Amino acid sequence: MKTDFLPHHPLVDRFGRAVTYLRVSITDRCDFRCVYCMAEDMTFLPRQQILSLEEIRFICQAFVELGVGKIRITGGEPLVRKGVLDLLQQIGQLGGLRELVMTSNGSRLAQMADELHAAGVKRINVSLDTLDPVKFKALTRIGDLEQVLRGINAAREAGFERIKINAVILKDRNHLEVCDLVQFAVERGLDISFIEEMPLGAVDNHDRSEAHYPSHRIKQDLASRFRLEAVHDKTGGPSDYFRIQGSDSRVGFISPHSANFCSSCNRVRLTAEGRLLLCLGNEHSVDLKAVVRQRPGDIDFLKQAIISAIDIKPEKHEFNIHERPVILRHMNATGG
Ligand code: SAM
Ligand code: SF4
Repeated sequence: MKTDFLPHHPLVDRFGRAVTYLRVSITDRCDFRCVYCMAEDMTFLPRQQILSLEEIRFICQAFVELGVGKIRITGGEPLVRKGVLDLLQQIGQLGGLRELVMTSNGSRLAQMADELHAAGVKRINVSLDTLDPVKFKALTRIGDLEQVLRGINAAREAGFERIKINAVILKDRNHLEVCDLVQFAVERGLDISFIEEMPLGAVDNHDRSEAHYPSHRIKQDLASRFRLEAVHDKTGGPSDYFRIQGSDSRVGFISPHSANFCSSCNRVRLTAEGRLLLCLGNEHSVDLKAVVRQRPGDIDFLKQAIISAIDIKPEKHEFNIHERPVILRHMNATGG
């Protein structure tokens, strides 16, 4: 497994892993309420508690100056935040940044795909768990499948380098659709990742241990229709990738339960309220909002705080879906 082991990088943690990738949740709000991500009745952060766009840009600048080459903008749903296009444009212009990418639920892509591409977003992940409109409504509680499919088409026409579908698979909800989702991706030249549900925050719609559908079962299901060839060029990410024989598409498996990927972790997350989370599955964090508000504009002070924060990055996470969630924050507040 390839990791970013770069001894002279400013952000190397205690375990020799270089942090080269920042994921930024620019809002905890969303126009969907996916059953695995949120409870039905959610309280969102008051506006003054979340980072301003200028604070987000400034923190991204500090990370890029510290050698981070890839930034993913996410949420909540990033496209519901006012001013997102200007923010993307500014982040995209940071010298030294190699890749600006985004994760979206697709609800606003039909209107915004061209502008996102023009703003400098290179690649985009779109969440799509089912191709059945009734199930889509049930899983997202609000979403309209047609609108998301229009968004995916608009993204294909806008010219992104790659588009990837993210699908969270829940037993007895959408697990019978894994082949159809891969077929959808293959026909459109998209990649697809299947994600095991993670126990982040309390959800009220289902029992997570009953809904668990492990990656190895998905691989078995896919074998009935597709030939998967292992791809060896790992990029420090959690996905285990395979090429689908006879196509341009790749299928990935993000398996936080069945395959621990922490030894190659190269990433940290900035939450909408400005906490720097050192690990998805632990609470180790540093309040960067307090740092930027204590000394506005002092980038060296901020960079020093980031360097110190990397020292507390935990070695690994342990998820247990059979227990009540230890991590109380939901995925929308995390920057998934
Ligand atoms: N709203 C955008 C979207 O849905 O793509 C971006 C944010 S969302 C939190 C990012 C990704 O996290 C989505 O692909 C979603 O399916 C996934 N996700 C949310 N809650 C999850 C959970 N409890 N376990 C695993 N993946 C989850
Ligand atoms: Fe919103 Fe994304 Fe969470 Fe679904 S997964 S509720 S779209 S933030």
